[in-house]
Amino acid sequence: MYEQYKLSYDYNGLELHIDEATVETHYGKHHAAYTKTLNETAEKAGVADMPIEELLKGLDKVTDEGLRKMLRNHGGGYYNHNLYFKTISPEGGDASFENASDVFKKAVERDFGGLDVLKEKMSAAAMGQFGSGWAFLSATPDGKLVISASPNQDNPLSEGTANTPIVALDVWEHAYYLKYRNLRADYIKAFWNVIDWVKVSELF
Ligand code: MN
Repeated sequence: MYEQYKLSYDYNGLELHIDEATVETHYGKHHAAYTKTLNETAEKAGVADMPIEELLKGLDKVTDEGLRKMLRNHGGGYYNHNLYFKTISPEGGDASFENASDVFKKAVERDFGGLDVLKEKMSAAAMGQFGSGWAFLSATPDGKLVISASPNQDNPLSEGTANTPIVALDVWEHAYYLKYRNLRADYIKAFWNVIDWVKVSELF
């Protein structure tokens, strides 16, 4: 049984950056639906007891093509949204970077030259993702930080890389359209005001 991450803040906890109606719909409807469909599909495919990371890395072992596609989309949706909602918080933003772990802060300095460049590069990846998808900050097996983008509910696990996502920036229109309409760039700026670098550094 895959459990939807329990929010540590209220639906209106991220105002004025991400509005209450968006969190309510995004978490309460979209994320809940991915979780429900994943559980139903995993049961049918006989993989319900697998850790989600293992399931997404080993999709090619699911022989039924229809089930494999469902697991990729809904398993990815479940995993990506758990990471998204887990790493944003009312305590997020640039100020939280000060309290992130030293090893993470050093890695950001080493691989990007600073937090501003990391944010610029990841914003560009998110803007450049045509249509629905995500931008990710991931850790490589040897502890380097890398940025990537994926369509739909794919991620570095389902794409077969060895990297582990630690920041997931959702750029599906459902993540921002109620407040930001077509202005994806404004939503991305708002996302940086809620990303909690302490939580990100714990994952790193
Ligand atoms: Mn979403």
